[in-house]
Amino acid sequence: GTILLTGANGFIASWITRILLDQGYTVRCSVRSEAKGAALKKNFGKQADRIEIAIVPDIAKACAFDQAVQGVDAVIHTASPCHLNPDSDPSELIGPAVAGTTGLLQSALKYGTTVKRVVSTSSCATIFEFVPKPCVYTEENWNELSVKTVKEKGREAGADHKYCASKVLAERAVWDFVESHKGKLPFDVVTLCPPHVFGPSLVLEKDFSKLNVSQQMWLSAVKGPKDNEFLVTDGHEWADVRDVAMAHVLAIQKEAAANQRIIVAAGPWKWQDWLNIARTLDDKLPAGNTSYDPAKAVHFIRYNSTKSTDILGLKFRRMEDTTKDMVAQFREEGRL
Ligand code: NDP
Repeated sequence: GTILLTGANGFIASWITRILLDQGYTVRCSVRSEAKGAALKKNFGKQADRIEIAIVPDIAKACAFDQAVQGVDAVIHTASPCHLNPDSDPSELIGPAVAGTTGLLQSALKYGTTVKRVVSTSSCATIFEFVPKPCVYTEENWNELSVKTVKEKGREAGADHKYCASKVLAERAVWDFVESHKGKLPFDVVTLCPPHVFGPSLVLEKDFSKLNVSQQMWLSAVKGPKDNEFLVTDGHEWADVRDVAMAHVLAIQKEAAANQRIIVAAGPWKWQDWLNIARTLDDKLPAGNTSYDPAKAVHFIRYNSTKSTDILGLKFRRMEDTTKDMVAQFREEGRL
């Protein structure tokens, strides 16, 4: 079969491409420019024979995907602004996130006559709220706070809230679309909600500013110098980028995933947990907070991720495996 993958040159999507190609699919990769398409193809050697490049310069434009959706069996939508720039106007994030999603669904409805499923990459950013007490979240929960904060404060809302709001509104656009075409959609949808996604990039990247935002955070925390308090208080849940990519592939394959919202989370962490593992591989790294006792760590944000194992059949990598591969990448890139 042929799968349309939007934002195909991204951190997560490049691993989705790898898995789809390994499984024998043809991948129609949407990217913003010819140059990005050519660079992407180079990463896949002979397998690039089964990559078709679709240039979509502006995903927010109406009808942007009218051509790209034609003749594909399923769509995986990952393209969305993914940065935590404190100075950004919320509309820079929300505009493409929402219009890109809605436009893609409209194109699929109009021209994607062969499309059976659309998988959209959402995020745990759409689920957790910034509550200072331990909470276990499920797919029933929605982050209302970020949307409200951005509405009230606009550009002055924190970078986290602006990004989270863009993801909430984009995922809502998916479910609103499903609701307003009830009984009339020839395809079903799946939304996937990963927390922080860590792991190696498919391709080495020399330029720090071009590293994925979650890799930047990981590297900065592990390399220090950092406020030692932050290392033991700041944390979330995580999933390895290759497991998140596999979740997308399983989400197009598993019948039972139809119209499900699925959290894809492997477990909780504090930065010091990553640092402790990384230090077993690289003794030049700083010790960080030596008073840390992982058994006593309080995790404010936990997820119930049973749908990812029960419906998708996903298996999660361990922190040790992910750390080993990230350290290897960062060494090769001369960062560690
Ligand atoms: P990347 O930044 O690596 O990839 C983002 C992709 O989206 C790139 O292909 C990028 O294209 C494209 N994109 C961004 N903005 C636009 C735009 N305005 N118009 C067209 N294309 C655009 O990020 P990730 O791989 O991490 O993110 C992929 C998805 O996963 C996103 O939806 C993100 O919200 C979600 N996610 C990520 C998490 C993480 O920890 N990394 C956690 C949870 C969810 P270009 O290269 O041309 O800029």
